[in-house]
Amino acid sequence: MKILVADSINEKGIEILKKEVDVVVDPTITPENLLKTINEYDGIVIRSRTKVTKEVIEVADNLKIIARAGVGVDNVDVNAATDKGIMVVNSPESTSITVAEHTMGLMLSLARKLSIADKSVKEGKWEKKKFMGMELKNKTLGIIGMGRIGSQVVSRCKAFKMDTIVYDPYLPDEAANQMGVDLTDLETVLKNADFISIHVPLTTETKHLISTEEFKIMKDSSFIINCARGGIIDEKALYHALKDDVIGGCALDVYEEEPPKKDSKLFELDNIILTPHIAASTKEAQRDAAIIVAEEIISLSKNETPQNILNMPRVDNYKDYTPYLDLCKKLGSFISQAVNGKLNEIEIIYGGEVAELPNHELLTRSIIQGAVNPYLKGEVTTINSPIVAKERGITITEGVRNDAKGYDSLIKVSAINGNERFSAEGTNLHGPRILKVNNYWVDVKPEGHMFIAKYEDVPGSIGKIGTLLGENKVNIGVMQVGRELDSGKAIMVLTLDHEVPEEVMEQLKSLENIYNVVKLTL
Ligand code: NAD
Repeated sequence: MKILVADSINEKGIEILKKEVDVVVDPTITPENLLKTINEYDGIVIRSRTKVTKEVIEVADNLKIIARAGVGVDNVDVNAATDKGIMVVNSPESTSITVAEHTMGLMLSLARKLSIADKSVKEGKWEKKKFMGMELKNKTLGIIGMGRIGSQVVSRCKAFKMDTIVYDPYLPDEAANQMGVDLTDLETVLKNADFISIHVPLTTETKHLISTEEFKIMKDSSFIINCARGGIIDEKALYHALKDDVIGGCALDVYEEEPPKKDSKLFELDNIILTPHIAASTKEAQRDAAIIVAEEIISLSKNETPQNILNMPRVDNYKDYTPYLDLCKKLGSFISQAVNGKLNEIEIIYGGEVAELPNHELLTRSIIQGAVNPYLKGEVTTINSPIVAKERGITITEGVRNDAKGYDSLIKVSAINGNERFSAEGTNLHGPRILKVNNYWVDVKPEGHMFIAKYEDVPGSIGKIGTLLGENKVNIGVMQVGRELDSGKAIMVLTLDHEVPEEVMEQLKSLENIYNVVKLTL
């Protein structure tokens, strides 16, 4: 893989990349040069300077990954990347501890009035009474958003012997139990917390989540901290709440407009602490961001799936999925080639242990990828495979069953075209294996050149095919035949050392008692 590092990132990340892939470091590359050279690269690493626009993506014919060392991807056209099958990754966990520590710093500064005490001493004053503070011990922390950062703040506040209540309607009770916190509604948090810390994303739902009415519910001594995103707190309402002592104080790292206007009314107040969006700015966070994105690129270079893909649903415990990924791709490719790409529905049934995985999206995407790739020029990836299937009018249906017919796991994939259906069932036994084709049990490794034919289960049918292939110097690797009870029909699945030439295919199709002759490449 050839990777362009287009912004300055921590040296550690570059070191890791250089051990495994070709790296070009050009942290001052201009937009014009990026446009000219991007098609040479398989991956690009950026921070916030370089913009990966739709125009760049359109000409980036070899690009597979856009890696943002950091969190926000406002400088990447993620939709254009998704359409082209390019994954966009970031490093959200690189900043969690850094932001949580900044939050703690602000909380302590509010409790002990550190910023105004500092200002007062520097002005030559000694106002000990004015700066009477409070302990964090036994105070109630109210967390809004118990994700990566919120949970880090909670664990630090536990060390300060604070009680915690949490508002996060998307956090399952089980996860909250494991974290040792009590979930409650927003009003209870507002009413009871001495310190409220916001850690939700800015969405239409969280815009102005805290405004005039919410300030009224809060204790008049309470403090609120926002290290998440500007706009979650309504700044006009905040100004009045602080000025009229509706609440005790506030600390902000993020603003509705950044930087805030020079004449912002918030600057007039003593009971607010303001920092310039630096909660994530530590050397450690930048180093970790560079290491994380370098590792994401290395995993892609080893055909593994990176962890922080933004344009694909997140998979926890990725290792649980890896045994099935290749199998899924092969099953998709097998059924689709077997029907010459003529399918308007793919039906997938996960059976046994694989059915118990919490999320099958990655596996389903791999099946679709395998099914559509043989018929398209550009490489389809797990990022854009559902989009490509939709564009081609292919419906995907998915189900689970407990039974795996004696195996630990069994995945059944069917290509459906009107009333016709072609199915293959497979498992992972030291690599992908196909165990059933339609109603016939077989056992074959789906790889290289293959051949399937249905035939009358009468003496001579198998011999005719073997002879014709042998006469044309097509060597058979493995031959698996499966017979259907009662119907008198059987199926043959062969792996071959060479592709069957077209003229031989025509002769095979004309043989008596032989039908549905198809060649495949897996
Ligand atoms: P996360 O995705 O891990 O956690 C967000 C949590 O918010 C989730 O648990 C989610 O269930 C919850 N949530 C979503 N909508 C909610 C709602 N309407 N009400 C209550 N809870 C809701 O995110 P994170 O990594 O913890 O980041 C949290 C915030 O911090 C984000 O807004 C992020 O942009 C911001 N951030 C700021 C800085 C900075 O420099 N100040 C740096 C990094 C992250």
